[in-house]
Amino acid sequence: MFKSRKLIWQLYRPYLLIMVMSLLLVALYASNFLKHLYLGQIADLLNEKALLFEKTLSRVDPDMSDVNANEVDKVCKEIGYLISTRFTVILPNGTVIGDSHEDPKKMDNHALRPEIQTAFDGIVGINTRFSKTLNTEYMYVALPVMKKGKVKAVIRTSMPTSDIDKTLNKIYYKIFLGGIVIAIISAFFSFAISSRINRPINEMKHGAARFANGDLDFRLDVPSSEEMDALADAMNNMAAQLNERIKTITSQRNELEAVLSSMVEAVVAVDSNECIIECNQAAESLFGIDFKKVRGGKIQDTINNAYLHHFISNIIKSGATIDSDNILQIGSGQFLQAHGTPLKDSDGDSIGALIVFNDVTRLKTLENIRRDFVANVSHELKTPITSIKGFVETLKDGAVNDPDNANRFLDIILKHADRLNAIIEDLLSLSRVEQETENEEITFSKIYVKDVLSNSLFMCQNKAEEKDIILSLECDDTIYVKGTSELLEQAVVNLIDNAIKYSDTGGRVNVEAKHKNKEVEIKIEDWGTGIPTEHLSRIFERFYRVDKARSRELGGTGLGLAIVKHIVQIHNGRTSVESIVGKGSRFYIYLPLV
Ligand code: ADP
Repeated sequence: MFKSRKLIWQLYRPYLLIMVMSLLLVALYASNFLKHLYLGQIADLLNEKALLFEKTLSRVDPDMSDVNANEVDKVCKEIGYLISTRFTVILPNGTVIGDSHEDPKKMDNHALRPEIQTAFDGIVGINTRFSKTLNTEYMYVALPVMKKGKVKAVIRTSMPTSDIDKTLNKIYYKIFLGGIVIAIISAFFSFAISSRINRPINEMKHGAARFANGDLDFRLDVPSSEEMDALADAMNNMAAQLNERIKTITSQRNELEAVLSSMVEAVVAVDSNECIIECNQAAESLFGIDFKKVRGGKIQDTINNAYLHHFISNIIKSGATIDSDNILQIGSGQFLQAHGTPLKDSDGDSIGALIVFNDVTRLKTLENIRRDFVANVSHELKTPITSIKGFVETLKDGAVNDPDNANRFLDIILKHADRLNAIIEDLLSLSRVEQETENEEITFSKIYVKDVLSNSLFMCQNKAEEKDIILSLECDDTIYVKGTSELLEQAVVNLIDNAIKYSDTGGRVNVEAKHKNKEVEIKIEDWGTGIPTEHLSRIFERFYRVDKARSRELGGTGLGLAIVKHIVQIHNGRTSVESIVGKGSRFYIYLPLV
């Protein structure tokens, strides 16, 4: 994989390369130029020396022939020695007649030497080559000696070029040293410039990394260059805007979460695939789910209710707000009513649905209670009314003329009328208690329990005496509660009345009150018929009776204990019962201590 390099190296290396290359080229060009200049100057010098030598030689041998060869050779050696230059004199046939450094007789014919051939054409010949004789490179300059338009001889001067090379090598060395110094200095400067360019870029890089890590309150320093300044400004602006938007989104989300979590109604949002995307705490506790675990899962896998799935599909398909016609019953036995709204994106396309669930369990229970109550009341009233109607019709049909039967029938009618009256009395007192509770008309005050119990016993005294039942009371004078004596007396009277009703003649009913576990316990105990265990949990329900016929015979309505329960509840208390068939019953009222 391609690995990106640091910018500083990307800038620094080409800088350095360009500088070293330019330096090399300049050095190469300069040294080449110098070499040519130097060689040119040497050639000129040799030419001038040859001209001077010609003048000297013309005095010794004006004809330039091999007749005076010895003289010529002598001059060559003398002058050559004096001015440290090699002189060679060559005749047009190539014969060497004089040489400052060698014996001409031992020397080859020089006719074929390139500089000599050029000189034979009447032009100064210049050539640089390796001399095998002297084992070094030499520059040769051959000067034609002209007489009457003809080349009479050639004077050749030569010098070793090794001196030139040495000088050039010195120059190269100095250029090389200078180059290194310049490379170091330029490297330093290019590094400094690269770093200068790189520093703000690095700062931008670090700033961008901080932005990416969520530190949107950080601001980049504005660098000096215009481009970087604009970039830093743009990045700072971007961070500020992002920060602002994130804050807005966060606060909107917090508000939404606060609204959702404070809602009593359960709210569930699903996407177009019916997968859960949001749900509030009420929904979590209603459906017994953990949002973190069910998030993204199908709602079908979380809430098992065929009607609900059909309901959600309908909202997503139709894109319309729908209220559930049916009441949903979920696993926990609760009854819910759902209100569904489609969720739409900014283009108005459906992206899911939001369903608000109302827990209507209480309403449903109340409705059931009301329905059962109406049915029970109707049933309770129907029996005496049917009897009354039947006996009145019998009387009308002629029984009125039969005084014995007529009296008996009228007694029965009176008994049923009393029963109707008792039921209506109890219903009225029940509804009165309920109404007063609802209207908050009941005022609580400190009342002494002993007073309540004594009054209640007093009210039941006659009925007890009728059955020879002894009533007894055990209660400390100091026990008191917060409540209304009238209602509490009614509750206790109902319990004592039952105890008398369901006790045999000559029995006993004991009423007792004491403090027990931060409550006041009032116990009404009898040693009468008792109640079978299976009925105990229901006897406080309205119209619930263990033995309907017996209750009716005793003038019971089935509402006495329901009234007791209601009154005790108003006092924030509770009721309970213990009973053994044939042994008797104990009814308890517990009221909070104040
Ligand atoms: P009722 O008017 O029939 O007495 P209550 O609501 O007062 O109606 O009582 C409900 C039923 O509870 C009674 O029908 C009776 O069967 C039973 N019950 C109540 N108190 C006693 C008791 N002390 N001993 C035995 N049975 C009782």
